[in-house]
Formats: sequence, C-alpha cells, structure tokens
Amino acid sequence: MQERSILIYDTTLRDGTQGEGVSLSLQDKLNIAQRLAEIGVDMIEGGYPLSNEKDAMFFQKARQLKLGSSLLAAFGMTRRRGMKSADDPGLAALIAAQTPVITIVGKSWDFHATEVLGVSLQENLDMIGETVEYLSRYAQIVYDAEHYFDGYRANPQYAVSTVETAARAGAKWIVFCDTNGGSLPEQVAQVVKDSKIRLDPLGPRLGIHCHNDGDLATANSLSAIDAGCDQIQGTFNGIGERCGNADLVCVISNLQFKKQGYRMLRDGSLQHLTELSRYIYETANLVPRNSQPFVGRSAFAHKGGMHVHAVNKFAHTYEHMNPELVGNERRILVSELSGRSNIAALTQKHGADPDRLLLDRILESVVKKENQGYQYEAAEASFDLLVTNTKQPKPPSIFWSSNARGPTHRTLKPSNTRSSQVIWTHQETSNTQRRS
Ligand SMILES: [Zn+2]
Repeated sequence: MQERSILIYDTTLRDGTQGEGVSLSLQDKLNIAQRLAEIGVDMIEGGYPLSNEKDAMFFQKARQLKLGSSLLAAFGMTRRRGMKSADDPGLAALIAAQTPVITIVGKSWDFHATEVLGVSLQENLDMIGETVEYLSRYAQIVYDAEHYFDGYRANPQYAVSTVETAARAGAKWIVFCDTNGGSLPEQVAQVVKDSKIRLDPLGPRLGIHCHNDGDLATANSLSAIDAGCDQIQGTFNGIGERCGNADLVCVISNLQFKKQGYRMLRDGSLQHLTELSRYIYETANLVPRNSQPFVGRSAFAHKGGMHVHAVNKFAHTYEHMNPELVGNERRILVSELSGRSNIAALTQKHGADPDRLLLDRILESVVKKENQGYQYEAAEASFDLLVTNTKQPKPPSIFWSSNARGPTHRTLKPSNTRSSQVIWTHQETSNTQRRS
C-alpha cells in the first residue's frame, strides 16, 4: 500500500504555553525543541518573537540546537492596518528570528475583521496578501486561517477569498483553524473538501489546526486528513488555551495504528511517545493525565478481576493495542475489586508460590485493609509489604508461642528462608482448617 506522508507541526512552545498553568523557561523551550526534533517532528513553532523577550531569545539560542531535518517556525500576525509591511515591527521581528518557516495568522471571519480588528473586508485581504508576499522572500510561509470554520459558516465566499489571497501571495501551506474548537467532524470534512476545490488550482498544500472545546480535536483532525489535509498542527499532551489543542500523541497514534497507510515522524520514534509525553508534563510542571489515551499511566491498567483474568490469557480482550508500540506498559491494579488473577500477576515478581491458598490470603488482606480505608492501587510498595507480611508473618508472636511444636523451633530463622516458608505454610494451613 502506498503510504501517505503527513507533516507534523508542533505548537507546544507557542499555543501550548497559552494553557492555564503552563509556563516554560527559555531553557525548557530549548530542551523540548531538541526532544521534538529527535523524534522527527517536521516543524517546531518556537514562539511569537514580538510578544516577549524570551521568545525572541529562543530563536537566537535555537541556532545552536541540532535539529536535523526539523524546521523551526516563528509565529506572527498579518501587518498592522494602515502600515506598510516593511515598516511593521512584528514582521521585522519575524525576519530577525531567521527561521526557515514563518507562520502568519490572519482573519477569515468577516465579523471578526470588521468588528474586532476594525478594518474593512478589503483591507483585511490586503493585509493578508501583502504580509505573505513580503515574508515569502525570507522563509517558507505557513498561513494559519484563524476562525476558518466559524468564518465559513458565516460567509463562505469571504472565508475562501482570504485563503485564496494567501495562496496567490505565495503561502506554501494553508492551515484551516477551528479556533473556537466547536466544530463537528462532518462539518470539518465538508468545509475542507469545498475549500480544497477552490485552492487546488493555486497550488498550496493544506493543513488543520483544531482546538478541543467539544472534545473533538482528535476526531476533527483525522476528519480533515481524510478530506485532503497533509499537515496537522497540535501540541503534545493537548496542552493549550481553554480545553487545549489537538493532542499530537493521539492524532499520531490513531493515524499510525488505527487508520494506517500514513507515514510521519522518524522510523522507530513512536515507541518514545510515552517517554516524550511525560518529559513534557514534567518540564511544564504539569500533573500527567492518567487517563490520557495511548500514553497515560492508566491507558493499559486493569482493575476488575474478570478483566485481568482475560488479559492474562489474551491481552487483546481488554486492550485495543499493544502498549509497547507507544512505549507504555500494562499495569495490573489491586483493590477490593480484584480477583485471584490480579494478585497472581502482581506477586509473581516476588517469586511467591502462586498457590491458591496464598493468593486467597493476600486478597483477603487487601479487602480487609480497604475496608479500613487503605488503598493499594497507587501504593505498589505498600502492596509489596503486604505480600511479604502475608507470606511470612512476624516470627516471635507465632513461632515462639506455647503451641509451637518442637521441630519449628529448630528450623526457624528470622530471615526469609525457604524452610521457614514451608513451616509457615504448614502452620497457616492448619489454622485455616481450624477456622473453617
Ligand atoms: Zn490555536
């Protein structure tokens, strides 16, 4: 099968930092850019050089990074109204960033142009065309059509004319932005298809930039790919303003493992997705989302006893894919909902004899402790201790009681020896029998 190449454009360092609670230092941004390049992200948006000193410094320092084939992109807006492109300080800052890619955002929605920007519809088109034409002399231009889907719904002719203007002025990429994140997958597909018919004769390639306000950013991105887009913009872990951006982890994993027939990133890099996702959480001082699909800590965690029993026999009964493909791992949780299978899976690493009696004893201890308010799900070390104590009760109270028999005294050692386990098992068996 002929694989289709999809360009991955990361905006974690720009759109991602607009997320509540996200803050990256200059060094953090440089470190993340390096890591993104290592897995082969095609374009890495570093920031908006006019907006702050840190972003301007980033582009200077980033020249020392070894980014391989990854291209850095500087982000900015169309020229100000009533000003020539050559006089605009924002465009000057973009040129000074000396990046091979410049991304320009412009208005697609007639209402936004006239009511928020305060310019006529023609002036908005002039701002788009002149800016793209001017900056095309310095870098490859990605044109982000802000509010494209809202704009298209309000005035399709005008929305299309904005991206046609950018394409005629030399933009290599036209990226449709679902800025408010409220579109549905079928709406995205239709708008991309209709716009593609108008844009194809002008030659630009198409991309998609989705926000997650309806929890549909991944679905909308995939829908746009089906409709003809070849570039996906998003952030790692979906961080970004409001409900965030399309999570590149999910978009990439779905394209690679579910839809198939697509090629992206460097060969072998998908096995590092989990590691990279966690690195970015840590660097951004964010708590990882355990339920994050594919790479979350709980993405392949099993708790229900029947599920664990089945997964131990055939993993695909309760796992949609092999977690190792994205560098994640299967986890078996233990709780009062566990069955013998959960306990067996977890005790194997202790070299415990997986006989039913011992497993039942451990499970019984877990249930008893959970009734008292303890939890073992997120406390693996405490569970290890519980297993150890259940395997080998404290010697003095049991072995030196007046009921202990002669041979027990001679073989007892306070260490975890095989002989003491045997005696313990024998004694526990007797006790169990007495109770029943
Ligand atoms: Zn955005």
